[in-house]
Amino acid sequence: MKLILLGAPGAGKGTQAEILCKELGIPTISTGNILRAAVKNGTPTGLKAKAFMDAGELVPDEVIIGIIHERLAEPDCAQGYILDGVPRTIAQAEAMEKAGIVFDAVVSIEISDETIMNRMSGRRVCEKCGASYHVAAVPPKQEGICDNCGGNLVQRKDDAPETVRSRLEVYHKETEPLKEFYAKRGLLKTVENRSTVAETTQGILQALGR
Ligand code: AMP
Repeated sequence: MKLILLGAPGAGKGTQAEILCKELGIPTISTGNILRAAVKNGTPTGLKAKAFMDAGELVPDEVIIGIIHERLAEPDCAQGYILDGVPRTIAQAEAMEKAGIVFDAVVSIEISDETIMNRMSGRRVCEKCGASYHVAAVPPKQEGICDNCGGNLVQRKDDAPETVRSRLEVYHKETEPLKEFYAKRGLLKTVENRSTVAETTQGILQALGR
């Protein structure tokens, strides 16, 4: 199963991707997590990406395309993968298509901007493994500590309200057109965000015919 998860920042892509990768037995590839690790480690890619990320802007397409080519060539991707947060522009989608990267389905998680603005303030991520939590909706077993790896949970710098607003603008302008791009290819499935994480997972699995 080769799957793309689309949706606004804060739609729950990371949370759903993590559940689905266990359910489907394939890895999740999150360009956001890869970039955050690169920034933390001070790699050349991280140095290039940091200012864009802090401002809530998109990292240039060529950086993302390079990351994706490298990651998808790794052996754990042979049986399939879930892309979380990529592609984010038509240019990225076209570059993947040109490289012969094909998908079985593209799931768009639909959610209002207002719900996202309310939700983002409670988001926490593990600074070690990138797992996502929410103080109310998806709390860790122990406050501030990742269930998976014991890492510290922190608030993302780009989850500040004014940055979230500009990320939503970028989403509507640059990423949302991908829905039409993939609808034309017969791949798009839209799933409404539901009141619990489990219900939304159920909606996604249903849309995938599982
Ligand atoms: P995310 O964790 O997916 O919300 O990504 C966090 C930030 O990383 C975004 O706001 C962008 O600055 C950058 N980023 C992640 N994935 C991409 C992508 N596919 N294209 C461009 N920028 C990206």
